[in-house]
Amino acid sequence: IFITMEGPDGAGKTTQIELLKDYLNKKGYDVLITRDPGGNAVSEAIREVILNKDFTEMGYMTELLLYAAARAQLVKENIKPALSAGKAVIADRFVDSSAVYQGIGRGLGIDTVYKVNEFALQGILPDMTFLMDLDAEVGIARKKNQAELDRMEQESLDFHKKVVEGYRSLAEMNPDRIVKVDAALPKEAIHDIITSYIEKWLAR
Ligand code: C5P
Ligand code: MG
Repeated sequence: IFITMEGPDGAGKTTQIELLKDYLNKKGYDVLITRDPGGNAVSEAIREVILNKDFTEMGYMTELLLYAAARAQLVKENIKPALSAGKAVIADRFVDSSAVYQGIGRGLGIDTVYKVNEFALQGILPDMTFLMDLDAEVGIARKKNQAELDRMEQESLDFHKKVVEGYRSLAEMNPDRIVKVDAALPKEAIHDIITSYIEKWLAR
């Protein structure tokens, strides 16, 4: 099973991924956790380039292709082998992040983003996606230390609002795959919601 965790910065994806890993381990699954961009030496190196604050001149097309390049390596090196070995994979962000950040935030268009990424994905798509839904203001406020913000995080509040709205419409367009969860709920409540959907998926 391939599960992806999506949502704006500061929505608590990492916390839920850890809880979900324990849960799946208890059910007998070997679990691989990945992050996108990143997850292996090549993709982490690409991540450094993408998020480098000095690269203020980076074009949106370049940004889109770098995310896709990092993802292609993540699929080849980490995700495909793990799924073939019968593991459960939980991904901290995947192609939907690009649909929303580059497609909607940058205005390149969702169709363009999926078209570019089709090549990178090599037929791998998530079985289930959880959207940790949180207003942009709240997510940003959780990141207090401005000096630690990466190139994307230091974008305007307007950009982050577009991202949040983009995620919401993406969830509406894909009701069978994407589950929107209120990220303002207590973490245990969120975990229970997530596992109830996973139980349903496994029993289908
Ligand atoms: O979630 P994580 O911190 O790993 O993401 C790194 C940064 O890249 C974040 O600021 C996130 O908003 C941004 N991002 C993006 N487009 C993507 C994936 C992540 O702008 N496709
Ligand atoms: Mg981050």
